[in-house]
Amino acid sequence: MKKYLFIDRDGTLVSEPQDFQVDSLSKVRFVPGVIPALLTLKQAGYSFVMVSNQDGLGRATFPLNTFTPAHEFILELLHSQGIDFEEVLLCPHLPEDNCDCRKPKLGLVMAYLKDPNWDRSASCFIGDRDTDLAMGANMGIRALKLRDDNSQHGINDGLSWSEIASTLTRRERVCSLERTTRETSIKVSVDLDHSGDNYFATGIGFFDHMLDQIATHGGFSLKVEAQGDLHVDAHHTIEDTGIVLGQALKQALLDKRGIGRFGFVLPMDEVYAAVFADSINDDPQDTTKVALDISGRPYCVLNFKGELTDGMVGDFPVQMTEHFFYSLACAMGLTLHLEVSAGNCHHQIEALFKAFGRALRRAIAVSGSELPSSKGSL
Ligand SMILES: [Mg+2]
Ligand SMILES: [Zn+2]
Repeated sequence: MKKYLFIDRDGTLVSEPQDFQVDSLSKVRFVPGVIPALLTLKQAGYSFVMVSNQDGLGRATFPLNTFTPAHEFILELLHSQGIDFEEVLLCPHLPEDNCDCRKPKLGLVMAYLKDPNWDRSASCFIGDRDTDLAMGANMGIRALKLRDDNSQHGINDGLSWSEIASTLTRRERVCSLERTTRETSIKVSVDLDHSGDNYFATGIGFFDHMLDQIATHGGFSLKVEAQGDLHVDAHHTIEDTGIVLGQALKQALLDKRGIGRFGFVLPMDEVYAAVFADSINDDPQDTTKVALDISGRPYCVLNFKGELTDGMVGDFPVQMTEHFFYSLACAMGLTLHLEVSAGNCHHQIEALFKAFGRALRRAIAVSGSELPSSKGSL
């Protein structure tokens, strides 16, 4: 479905002069960063509509013959750079005219509001004033405020154009998967950039507790629902949860840009657990990635050195610890080495899950250098 950016003109595309009237070519100043941002947004599939109040346009104090050349120059320059507006909507009235089309009233955009064939949730109003934010709210769409580039104050409550572009094109690192076989039915949802709101219902109490360790220490949101053949034993449910969780994490990582290597050692009472994992990243020097590229499938080595008993911890078969991590690592494409010292079995397993979560937290964090704010739009 089509998605629109409704964009204010003065103070947003071009700087607003002191007398608020862009009525000569010498008054046209493009706002810093506007062209590359609009090109990025065009590339992301947005269509543009200009929505502008031009107070008193056409009257003696603001005649069309001074407005039009400057306005057309703005449109032509943007057009020459590949930026076109599907429609240019102007309100020429003064506040005291009490018209129906002055922002934040909806007269100018009525045709859009009556058209159901565009995506409200993906569309946005962009402007430099609170009336632009109100316009977005009145239209029932998101609104973003542009930072006032003339402001002499350190405090600015808006965004730069490059921040607006990255806000609107940021892909959410979320994934929901469902997998059903004759043995199990597993639902997993992950949201790597939010935490809390976790939910676990695998039918295996201790396993729920362990999955919670991964999410809590991983700093991401995780929901797992599993219905497995527990009348047989816990094996399939734990194994398949590992597979679906690994797939969901892998998909939520998108192109994995900005994530890298990590290691973690976690002590817990008399035991310690060490996790060294090497996620697939974009570094061409990274042999893990080369191995993956050659094989065309996840490169998975699991080096498990723990001495665990064969017993149960609650309703959880201890042997399934290694099998769970193996399934997850294969599905996620991790090189994963696990090591745990001797001790109480509950502590050993819990320490491994916690350490894995902690290691994952570092792995999924996007490095600061990847953020658009470091690109220097100011
Ligand atoms: Mg404005
Ligand atoms: Zn009007």
